Amino acid sequence: MATYDYDIGILGGGAAGLTIASGAAQFGAKTLLIEKEKSLGGDCLHFGCVPSKTLIKTANVYHLMKHAGRYGLPHLDLTTVDFREVAKRIQSVIRVIEEHDSKERFCSLGARVEFGSARFMDEHAVLLNGGIYSAKNWVIATGSSPAVPPIEGIDTTPYITNKEIFSLESLPKSLIAIGGGPVSIEMAQAFSRLGTKVTVVELGDQILGAEDRDMAEQLMNILVSGGITFHVSSSILRVRDLGNEKEVVVKNGGGNTVSLKAETILIATGRQANLQGLGLEDIPVGFDRKGLKVDSRLRTNHKHIFAAGDTTGAYQFTHAAGYEGGIVLSNAILHLPRKADYTNLPWCTFTDPELASIGMNEKRAAAAGIPYSVWTEEFKSNDRSLAEGEEAGRIKLLLDERERPIGVQILGPHAGELVSEWVAVMNGKVKLSTLAAAVHPYPTLGEINKKVAGTFFSGKIFSEKVKKALKFFFNLKGRACG
Ligand SMILES: Cc1cc2nc3c(=O)[nH]c(=O)nc-3n(C[C@H](O)[C@H](O)[C@H](O)COP(=O)(O)OP(=O)(O)OC[C@H]3O[C@@H](n4cnc5c(N)ncnc54)[C@H](O)[C@@H]3O)c2cc1C
Repeated sequence: MATYDYDIGILGGGAAGLTIASGAAQFGAKTLLIEKEKSLGGDCLHFGCVPSKTLIKTANVYHLMKHAGRYGLPHLDLTTVDFREVAKRIQSVIRVIEEHDSKERFCSLGARVEFGSARFMDEHAVLLNGGIYSAKNWVIATGSSPAVPPIEGIDTTPYITNKEIFSLESLPKSLIAIGGGPVSIEMAQAFSRLGTKVTVVELGDQILGAEDRDMAEQLMNILVSGGITFHVSSSILRVRDLGNEKEVVVKNGGGNTVSLKAETILIATGRQANLQGLGLEDIPVGFDRKGLKVDSRLRTNHKHIFAAGDTTGAYQFTHAAGYEGGIVLSNAILHLPRKADYTNLPWCTFTDPELASIGMNEKRAAAAGIPYSVWTEEFKSNDRSLAEGEEAGRIKLLLDERERPIGVQILGPHAGELVSEWVAVMNGKVKLSTLAAAVHPYPTLGEINKKVAGTFFSGKIFSEKVKKALKFFFNLKGRACG
């Protein structure tokens, strides 16, 4: 039997790779983790979730300060934002979290960490910094990078992506965000709130294309009222560097050509898997434009080479990467065949209000041919929302024909937190009646979850049939007014 240096080798020290390295080492597997950059943590820590959510918080605080009057407070005379200070705060948060992802910590767990660019020599060995490292199993968890579309003039026009946006030297006066996905929309609102004039250009006919149109449009209207300009159904014809400004020429939905100008262009038009330089063509490992091709157990065409995280192009979230890390551990280390199942994968776009989703929305249910009914509840009917001054948005619950929850979308304050109750309901197959009957603390935003479930039952409970039965058995006397 062939022998290898390691039980498992992992390429990429981000969300997926770190989950696998930590788990494998703690299970007693001889583990090698290889990271291309100088530190562990990946995009989420350095250029993604952590800096973006830190920036969003800063922007929201500034927004609240600007609107102190809404809360019965004195008006504040604010100076403009010094983005270097904002960037410092972002870096300080990263530094704290980074400690958890240190080489030393992984070594203490039992995993060896090496830095450098590895290339597959054969199906079981990679070349790294002049040495050869072999492993019984490999995981490709090298993440993704911003995909920059082939726009005319892009090679000679400076632009930024999520790699640069958190360390700008100053706040741009104006910004054109190309793309209407979560990264673009979150950054658009954050920069707008900090004082940048923001325009978003989206090719599709709505922003946040994976979401139902009604929810995405409600969010877009809120963002418009906050001062952001949107061009949907608009393709970019060309970009040009005008010195202090950049020009983006757009063909809009009406077929008209519009010239937009801004100090900075943000490109956020999706992601591409980091697969270059790994030597995948030589072994070969199958991939396409989307990413690595894997089966439901996250195995590539070589059953001992797995993929996890953004490299598959499936669900590009940190929690999806962590989940997939668990699937790989189960299959590769524990030898328990386990398939990835994304039925109840939640996600959230962290705008204000947030837009969170789990399971089926109307688009996905219709595409899957699943009959459904929709139940909604508005945040403006939630007492806590009113007290918080955050009454925009609503919850939308989809039930299947057997009246089981198949999906929930929440546009509202702390939607990302609120959706967690549905994570438990849907994964635990909790009955809707149990949720409707469960006491929730008052006044909380979470009551909206109970209320939307109650909305479904109230029509049945307070029906004419029930009223008639109560009258018949208990001689109830009916209406006392009107
Ligand atoms: C602006 C932004 C905001 C985001 N916000 C959220 C959010 O709020 N919530 C959420 O769930 N997700 C969010 N995401 C997505 C999230 O960051 C990714 O889904 C997640 O980082 C994917 O984890 P991963 O392990 O696949 O990749 P990564 O975390 O990127 O890790 C991959 C690692 O592999 C390394 N690598 C690359 N090539 C090689 C190589 N050849 N050899 C060795 N190592 C290599 C990279 O340097 C990196 O460290 C956001 C993304 C962006 C861009």
